[in-house]
Parts: sequence; structure tokens; C-alpha cells
Amino acid sequence: MQSVVQRAELSHLPGLMATQIDPALLELLACPKCHATLMQSPHGLQCTSCAASYEVKEGIPVLLSDDVNTEHFEEEQHLAQMMKSREQLPEEQFNLNQWALSKREFFAMVRSVVSGPNKKFVNIGCGFDPSFAEFEEQGHTFVNMDLVFDMLANLRKDFGAQSCVNGDVNRMPLRAGAFDYVISIDVIHHECERLPELLGSFRDLLKPKGTLFLEDPNAWGLFQMAKSIFMPRFVYRSLRSTYHTLKRSTHRPADYEFPTNVWRVMAILRDLGFEDIKCYPHTAYPTVSERSHRIYTSLSGSEFVRKYHNYHYMLSAVRA
Ligand SMILES: [Zn+2]
Repeated sequence: MQSVVQRAELSHLPGLMATQIDPALLELLACPKCHATLMQSPHGLQCTSCAASYEVKEGIPVLLSDDVNTEHFEEEQHLAQMMKSREQLPEEQFNLNQWALSKREFFAMVRSVVSGPNKKFVNIGCGFDPSFAEFEEQGHTFVNMDLVFDMLANLRKDFGAQSCVNGDVNRMPLRAGAFDYVISIDVIHHECERLPELLGSFRDLLKPKGTLFLEDPNAWGLFQMAKSIFMPRFVYRSLRSTYHTLKRSTHRPADYEFPTNVWRVMAILRDLGFEDIKCYPHTAYPTVSERSHRIYTSLSGSEFVRKYHNYHYMLSAVRA
């Protein structure tokens, strides 16, 4: 905990004005419109090719292009706002513990692969995830990217995150071939209609032999497959919508969100030239009740089920 406090104190770097960013971070960024490099300007950042200018707000570069998908943008902002303002109910504790376990299992996978000093990481769609701190303490560079500015501002304020970028996966504001590791947790189902393009853009960020770490809600998850695999999508969507209305869910899934198919994702990764694609067994079942959790765990005795039919799937893949 102490190191987190020290980090928070460091968050106002002496000598850096609010519109200036660390040159080490600047080197990893790119213009979301034309992908050229960016340079520091008196008011923020400017593209060295198309001359587009970008604001740096509270030390965070805002690299959103004008054609940001407003439906996704507003939905995610609304969700972030709600998470911030909502009181935590006691019955949610079980669920939150499962989310925490899920994160621990994910980062155990990352740790089992990462080797060597001074690596470059990016967590795409990081949300309010302080996992960057562990890797920064080991001397790595870790960029936190999210569509929602407030998530990043809070990550900076509460945990001292230095390397944040406000960006959109559809207009990647990061330099191609600059990263050893790309992390993306629960993001790709937001873009389920354009998985090959999205996963291709993750590949392009990696150096040769760099690793992608991915987690997403699994269409082949136990009890999930009957709906998301075998039911027409519009029927599943309307049933899901009815369910969340009756349950008075504080947040129901947006229409564009849909669990992704672990087998299809692995096939796309192979087509994109990834190799050594590995799924990892894990035990967390977030967003199910305690009772359902008992059923899930009793049915997930085999490693195969914990890999491919878990609520989420978790995988690593190496760029050739
Ligand atoms: Zn540009």
C-alpha cells in the first residue's frame, strides 16, 4: 500500500507543465487520424504530418478523433459515472470478489509469460485498474488507455498512474510495433462485429515476438452457449433486455455488446499470423449469484471446461 501512496505523491512531476507529457510516453503515441508521430506543442500535442492538434488535460493526452463512435462513447461514460456514484450493496460483495479473483488470475497469466527488463506494455480499455503499478515498479513502461477520460483521471489521482492516454480502439492512438505486451480485458465484445480488424490492430501494436493477452466474456461459457451460440442473436438480445428490465439491473449490457466465441477468436488470431496461442484454465465466475456459482464450480472439474467453457476465456498469443 505504501508504494501506492508514494506514487500518488509523485503524480505532480516537478518541471512538467499540465500540457506537457513525459517524452517516453510521447514516443509510444501516434496521431489517431493518420498514425504519424506527435510532437509537443504549447497547448498540448500536434501531429507531425496532418497537423491535427490534441489537448493534454490533467497530464493525460486526449487522442480522440472527431469521428469517435458516439453511441459507445456515451454508454461507456454513463457506465463510468454510475460506477463512481453508486453505493456498493452488501450482496454485491460476492460478485466484486469474483471480479477481483478474475483479475488476479489474469495477471498471474501475464506474469508467467513476461520476462526481461524494460518492456513496453499497454492495457487497452484499462478502466479503473491499478495493475500497472506492479509492472512499473519492476522498471517496465506501462501505458493505460481508455475511451473514458474520467477513468484515467481517477487512476492518476488515486494510484499515481503516469502513462495514460485517452483513446478509441477504432482509431488507435498508439505507435505501431512499439509494444512487447498488449493487454485487453473485457473489451473486444464491445466491437464484436469487427473482431478481425480489432485483433489485427492489436497485432500491429506488437513488436515481432510480442505477446497479446486477452480476456473476454465467453459465448461458449457454461449456460451461456445455449443462448449466445444456438439462439438467433436478435432473440437472445431481446430476452437479455427483458431479463435485465425485470431484474431492474442498474446497468444492462449495451445492445452492441455480445459475448465472443473463444474458438472463433483463436481462429482469427491464427489467420492474423499469431502463434503459440494458449488458453488458460481459471476459476472465477463473475456476475453470477452465489448459488449459480456453486453449480458452475461443481460442473467445471476438468481443466478443459475451466479453459474453454468458463464464463470468460483468457488467452495469450505471440506475434510471429
Ligand atoms: Zn495526423
